[in-house]
Amino acid sequence: MEFTLLEQNILIAKGMTVEQLNQLKAAGVQAKGDFATVGDTATLVEVVPGLDAGVAAKVMEWAVGAKAGAAETGKMVIDSADAIYCSHCNARQPKDYKTGDLCPACGKQAEPVQSCYWCSTSGPGKFCRGCGAEFVTLAEYDLAVLLKREGVAKDDIAKRLRGMDKAEKDALWSRARRMHG
Ligand SMILES: [Zn+2]
Ligand SMILES: [Zn+2]
Repeated sequence: MEFTLLEQNILIAKGMTVEQLNQLKAAGVQAKGDFATVGDTATLVEVVPGLDAGVAAKVMEWAVGAKAGAAETGKMVIDSADAIYCSHCNARQPKDYKTGDLCPACGKQAEPVQSCYWCSTSGPGKFCRGCGAEFVTLAEYDLAVLLKREGVAKDDIAKRLRGMDKAEKDALWSRARRMHG
């Protein structure tokens, strides 16, 4: 396996010198596919000492594509963690999704409008626009109201509910029923 003439000419066009090209080959990078093993720009500079970082970036972009650049910044990881899924049809929402937008797949509001157990403001999203409280599911709304009446701090209510096991929730439900009765 060796670089083709075309590949060598491309590397030189990207700004590598013939000497650097030879260093690259001496290090064991002898075909375009070997750049995938190199992995990123910083490693390429280590393999070819003295190689300009800008040239290295151009070479890596050509050899392994923009994918390596994106993985480097960790951007893709952040995006997938922040992904919003439609609560009606489960479709993943576009990157520029903003709270309140309609789902492109089913046309309903991707996040349901909720009303706040703390200040009664209603709106979509994970947090109340009125007071910043973290919303709980509609099913647990009454429990959140009860916790508020029992003196639990606003910022602790959603956390408290998430941390409860079934027995604790059942006990809370029976208190909530008494509150209504
Ligand atoms: Zn949908
Ligand atoms: Zn609120």
